[in-house]
Amino acid sequence: MHIHRTIAEIRQFVRHFKAAGKTIGLVPTMGYFHEGHLALMREAKKTCDVVVVSLYVNPLQFGPKEDLAQYPRDFERDCTMARDVGVDAIFTPSDQEMYPQGFSTFSTFVEVTGLTARLCGQSRPGHFRGVTTVVTKLFNIVTPDRAFFGQKDAQQAIVIQRMARDLNMGLDVTILPTVREKDGLAMSSRNVYLTGEQRRDALVLNRSLCTFRDAIQEGERDAGRLRGMIMDMITAVPGAQPDYVEILAVPDLQPLETLQGRVIAALAVRFGKTRLIDNIIVEV
Ligand code: AMP
Repeated sequence: MHIHRTIAEIRQFVRHFKAAGKTIGLVPTMGYFHEGHLALMREAKKTCDVVVVSLYVNPLQFGPKEDLAQYPRDFERDCTMARDVGVDAIFTPSDQEMYPQGFSTFSTFVEVTGLTARLCGQSRPGHFRGVTTVVTKLFNIVTPDRAFFGQKDAQQAIVIQRMARDLNMGLDVTILPTVREKDGLAMSSRNVYLTGEQRRDALVLNRSLCTFRDAIQEGERDAGRLRGMIMDMITAVPGAQPDYVEILAVPDLQPLETLQGRVIAALAVRFGKTRLIDNIIVEV
């Protein structure tokens, strides 16, 4: 497995394979890998000739009070895990490589409007602008045929799919299901921040999403009542502080009163200082 730290190196690597007619798959990540990341890499390996994983904790998508400095990192372990699933190259640039002009004078941004108005777009101002800008840079650098994202970050995946379509980026954006621990907790690099008690409390996320799905199966269609049901379950856990709970139509992420078609229940909840997100998509 090759490790490339500069844009010139990864471009040269990709150019070599493209010249030989090979397809390139890209899995953008912030590292500290778990099975969710590995599932994306395995699918990329299955469907593309050459798999590039980008590993970059992008400062542009973190707010001033967020966990950029604390974000968990273990590059050696990540390399071993990626190598074991057959990843061909890791692209891990420095901030200097990605933003040589510095952040204060960086001036070109990619912004997806509408889809970013709610959920994390509302509770983390500037977050999606940072995500779509860095993902555009990664797409321009790696020029993949396919890129892979997880439904765990459903709004992010939908926003990137729209961006690629609206700006004719000429690649396929694949979204893969959320990988969970045996007890239902969605895998996340941020789960390492949780204490034992918070880890147990956090099971309410998946539990409330399953209750949402079951209630729909039993015929409930009222978005307000369903949202209330999820919120009640979360607020019943003393250590859980909800940031948002929303039920929206997919893929336009607009609110609806009566459920029909594809709908998402998405939530963000704090356990101490740790903010976790989760979601479920149901076909009504
Ligand atoms: P991150 O390193 O957290 O930025 O995640 C990199 C990619 O992995 C994103 O597309 C995430 O949506 C995806 N991902 C993170 N956690 C999971 C999970 N539990 N299941 C599936 N995909 C995930």
